[in-house]
Amino acid sequence: RHTTAELQAMDAAHYLHPFTDHKDLGARGARIIERAQGVYLWDSEGNQILDGMAGLWCVNIGYGRTELAEVAYKQMLELPYYNSFFQCANPPAVQLAKAIAEIAPAHMNHVFFTGSGSESNDTVLRMVRRYWDLKGKPGKKTIISRINGYHGSTVAGASLGGMSVMHEQGDLPIPGIVHIPQPYWYGEGGDMDPEEFGLWAARQLEAKIEELGEDKVAAFIAEPIQGAGGVIIPPSTYWPEIKRILAKYDILLVVDEVICGFGRTGEWFGSQYFDLKPDLMPIAKGMTSGYLPMGGVIVGDRVANTLIEHGGEFFHGYTYSGHPVAAAVGLENLRILREEKIVDYVKQEAAPYLQSKIASLAEHRLVGEVRGVGLLGAIELVKNKATRERFAEKGSTGTLCRDLCVRNGLVMRAVGDTLIMSPPLVIKPEEIDELVAKAWRCLDLAAEQLGV
Ligand code: PMP
Repeated sequence: RHTTAELQAMDAAHYLHPFTDHKDLGARGARIIERAQGVYLWDSEGNQILDGMAGLWCVNIGYGRTELAEVAYKQMLELPYYNSFFQCANPPAVQLAKAIAEIAPAHMNHVFFTGSGSESNDTVLRMVRRYWDLKGKPGKKTIISRINGYHGSTVAGASLGGMSVMHEQGDLPIPGIVHIPQPYWYGEGGDMDPEEFGLWAARQLEAKIEELGEDKVAAFIAEPIQGAGGVIIPPSTYWPEIKRILAKYDILLVVDEVICGFGRTGEWFGSQYFDLKPDLMPIAKGMTSGYLPMGGVIVGDRVANTLIEHGGEFFHGYTYSGHPVAAAVGLENLRILREEKIVDYVKQEAAPYLQSKIASLAEHRLVGEVRGVGLLGAIELVKNKATRERFAEKGSTGTLCRDLCVRNGLVMRAVGDTLIMSPPLVIKPEEIDELVAKAWRCLDLAAEQLGV
């Protein structure tokens, strides 16, 4: 067993972390998270921290569920690995595909397995282009996405995503992907009311299709609610207008369910929350509650039947597509979600309670807007509530609050000057009280430091 200092020294010497400023980290040393139970984490110094982010929006059933460990152990002894290429399958992967089809929208009956959300979106890109090739419309290649959307960090995933910081590195996006504005009313709505702005944002899609020509556009991809972009919830007019436009031009809809899937909104999928009829739904995270890496693409009948009936091979797949141990864990995760009625619990109890409690944070002098759906929430930090003016250096208030939170036992994430949360779906009312009390205290501490 190593001490914290030893671990941090080894980390500094050998570990290149994702999404990390190593120069900045060098001075502080990584926080070593050692164990977790329920909604709580413990670091190597014994601090107990409420995980308001469910890891990275994934630990939906909470930490410490021994059932998942047990099925993984048994499956490893029985069949730790075999591929699903070349006409092979394994029992848990087959059972999981069926179980996912049962909770997906009625017209979605097939699953293509991957190892992560990013891989799922690489699959999406290949699959929509293959679909249009098979349909005799090979010109339909371009995918329209949204500025500030997040679809992963592989070359295709980061290109589909619309985060400029990710495009600046690695010469992205790759050709064939274009971005339209996001439906971010609080930040970009100007003088429009939310409904008006929702229509305006949706019609950017129509304008882009007209500009490119509908015979060039393969698909539109979007998260039901933009997660990593700052929990951006589209106004009520947005999705109905998007649906109208996609139907008019016959363009596929890809709804990225990596965050919203598996109960986060109080429905199984965000598509059901917003009444969408996607052709493809990339999934990951909550699929196994993060206990093992796994992703997939849920495929609607239109695309699946075309791929199947046309014949010929789709030259695509991953070594770990349909990994038996990950699939067994995914299946057990789904059993727990279903038998313990966790999605109903989110809809009927946890979400209404969390949303009513966080709404009170809007009274804080640093807070310009609080918004949320299900167990997703966002708190916009501003200097001036009336004008929505931010504090001087962009993102510094968000980082300040986030760091104060973690020091006071709460993980939230900062996206610029927006604090976001996404706790485990099993969070209890008294834990929601603790989360909100801690958030309030950290906002007070930040206000003191900012001298307001
Ligand atoms: N899509 C969305 C909506 C996501 O939030 C994420 C991860 N945050 C991804 C895709 C990528 O998933 P992964 O990190 O598993 O590759």
